[in-house]
Amino acid sequence: APLLQLTGIVKEFPGVRALDGVDLVVRAGEVHCLLGQNGAGKSTLIKVLAGAYQPDEGEIVMDGEHAHFADPQAALAAGIATIYQELDLVDGLSVADNIFLGHERSRFGFSRVSDSNRAARELLVSLGHPEIRPSRETGSLSAAGKQIVSMARALSRQAQVIVMDEPSAVLDPDEVGGLFRVIEDLRASGKAIVYISHRLEEIRRIGDRLTVLKDGRTVAADLPARETPTSELIALMTGREVSAEY
Ligand code: ADP
Ligand code: MG
Ligand code: MG
Repeated sequence: APLLQLTGIVKEFPGVRALDGVDLVVRAGEVHCLLGQNGAGKSTLIKVLAGAYQPDEGEIVMDGEHAHFADPQAALAAGIATIYQELDLVDGLSVADNIFLGHERSRFGFSRVSDSNRAARELLVSLGHPEIRPSRETGSLSAAGKQIVSMARALSRQAQVIVMDEPSAVLDPDEVGGLFRVIEDLRASGKAIVYISHRLEEIRRIGDRLTVLKDGRTVAADLPARETPTSELIALMTGREVSAEY
């Protein structure tokens, strides 16, 4: 059974049906790409997954059980961690404090700051980034470093599903390579990654499966990410035929 299954998700805002019946299936140990033009509904969908929005209709099943995420804490507790483009890190806090912010093992749950730093360091090392010191002020890190801190936070919450909204948009090509190595390790450890991007070459490199959204609907579900022709993906995203030699 898939780790996560969404069926018929609808979300309306005044005058806009942002999601108009979305289906999504995600398995453990796969990178599932979510593809769609600007306005297709990608960010709205992940906010539903993250408990930031309540769907008007539809069903979420996680680990074989009906799920209802009343708020972001509920989604996190169920094992879904979301890394937004606008990272929700506090620049003035240390890396370790950001990793454990709001966690039962927050700074106040550790008996000493050094224990918090040690736990943060273990997570950063496991992500292949020992150079990010837990005591460092988070605001001094690069965009890539901040993404790693967000991922360490997801791991500290035992997330099973890690959702990333266009993470490469703020990275240079070397940093994208580093991010992909981290994602590959997370996949190998059995996590499910939901990776949003409209860059088809990235989807080929990192994706296992993909789902295409258009105008708030799933127009193609669970396709193989490397084998589906580019012309077909563009036709699905745009609704227009594209010559095969694109
Ligand atoms: P994507 O991330 O694929 O670019 P979005 O999920 O951001 O798409 O937007 C889908 C549609 O919903 C767009 O038409 C957008 O304008 C609309 N929308 C998104 N969020 C809101 C909101 N909070 N209020 C009203 N309309 C919204
Ligand atoms: Mg957008
Ligand atoms: Mg978006």
